[in-house]
Amino acid sequence: CGIVAAVSSRNIVPILVQGLQRLEYRGYDSCGVAVHAGGLKRARSTARVAELLQQVEQEHITGTTGIAHTRWATHGAPAVHNAHPHFSHGPGADADARPGRIALVHNGIIENHEELRAKLRAKGYVFASQTDTEVISHLVDSLYEGDLFEAVQMAVSRLQGAYAIAVFCKDEPHRVVGARAGSPMVLGVGATAGADTSADGERFLASDAMALAGVTDQIVYLEEGDLVDIQLGRHWVVDKARKPATRPVRTVLAHS
Ligand code: GLU
Repeated sequence: CGIVAAVSSRNIVPILVQGLQRLEYRGYDSCGVAVHAGGLKRARSTARVAELLQQVEQEHITGTTGIAHTRWATHGAPAVHNAHPHFSHGPGADADARPGRIALVHNGIIENHEELRAKLRAKGYVFASQTDTEVISHLVDSLYEGDLFEAVQMAVSRLQGAYAIAVFCKDEPHRVVGARAGSPMVLGVGATAGADTSADGERFLASDAMALAGVTDQIVYLEEGDLVDIQLGRHWVVDKARKPATRPVRTVLAHS
């Protein structure tokens, strides 16, 4: 029910988890966070976001690129194995033994998930959850040839339904790709932080600008059908016709 994502040169786990706390008002049944830490790492919980925070601290989960999610289950029971982020390890059954390649969070519903799941199973993908979302992570993996933006663009063209997604890939450590169709998503442009340069050039995605309160007030409102690429010091948006789009950066009033 809520998404936060970040690309930075500082550890963004506290920002991601605080962002989820600011989205708690929307209601949720489980939550999770994944970061790029050499490989992909994640923590997921069916408890409150505060407990997810304890879990990431205990497990020393830190990273400069990551995605986080609060889930309102539509397909698959509220349970840790159905909580987002969902990973794809590529085709093959030994997912536990292999590092994940794609990590993905999703809000919404994928209407054609059964048809997509059948096709991905035929290619050897093994599903670890009952969610409609996991089909998107395997679909992106199956289309990935070194450029995450290209892979996500192809993947969303095969989706029917409503979604906001944020995705990253083990092979592209400083990049998150997002898409919105039927669910809200904003982009946050990090402020240049004077003497502290660790926040320079950071970029965020979130379901609601409120998730980024205190982090940045520079917000780009994405439009229906937009696909967005965030990297350190740059972002890139294409519209629903996949033409480059200029979206103004607006200063939002600070929330307390
Ligand atoms: N349909 C997805 C699921 O059940 C996403 C639900 C949501 O929007 O949180 O996992």
